[in-house]
Amino acid sequence: MRFDIISIFPESFYSYIDTSILKKAIEKKIITISITNPRDFTTDKHHTVDESPYGGGPGMVLKAEPIWKAVLSVIKKKKVDSKKRIVLFSIRGKKFDQKIARRFSKYEQIILICGRYEGVDERVAEYLADEEISIGDYVLSGGELPALVFLEAVSRHIPGVLGKYESLEEKKGSYPVYTRPEIFEGEVKGKRKKMKVPEALLRGNHKLIDEWRKKYGTLVGK
Ligand code: SAH
Repeated sequence: MRFDIISIFPESFYSYIDTSILKKAIEKKIITISITNPRDFTTDKHHTVDESPYGGGPGMVLKAEPIWKAVLSVIKKKKVDSKKRIVLFSIRGKKFDQKIARRFSKYEQIILICGRYEGVDERVAEYLADEEISIGDYVLSGGELPALVFLEAVSRHIPGVLGKYESLEEKKGSYPVYTRPEIFEGEVKGKRKKMKVPEALLRGNHKLIDEWRKKYGTLVGK
């Protein structure tokens, strides 16, 4: 599985990738992540990637051409057609969730286009991208964080990426967890307090534990 990120801020990705499950997945050669900067595909002296919007208004818009060229360059590097998907991050896109993450884990190449400023020339959404994805109903300053969220959520579904496949929240559910000590004493709102682990988890009674986890947990993406 190959991820190609198209971003004018490539350096924003490295430190996170280096400390996440993505790094292991890369080392195990399960995934490849490559970052391409549209700025490298500009032809003018100043390497312009943005210009002001037609019709006026604040901010700058990422130009279509450098993004177009960057995307075509990564498609040519690897000739997979039916199993490739071009994603544009956009506030107006489809809301990302676990089901969408699972669907994307089946492709061979995913190209992730990160917007910035006032967004991306709409022709990229209309004619180049296969789909637009939003990671939630809030505004970020760029598609870089969405791309990292997408990368991690999708990679978790690729067999071999998680140490134990059963760790996938879809399989086991997401539930509250505790670890030693059984009684933890700490300060809560200025007072000493003894905080205990729930009884149900302490007796090694698996039926009880399962019931407790069902009661306080939730299934993701079913
Ligand atoms: N006024 C613009 C704001 C763009 S924000 C608009 O209404 O679209 C700049 C870029 O950040 C966007 O092009 C997109 O790529 C990214 N972005 C911001 N918030 C996002 C979100 N919730 N989900 C996905 N991408 C987002």
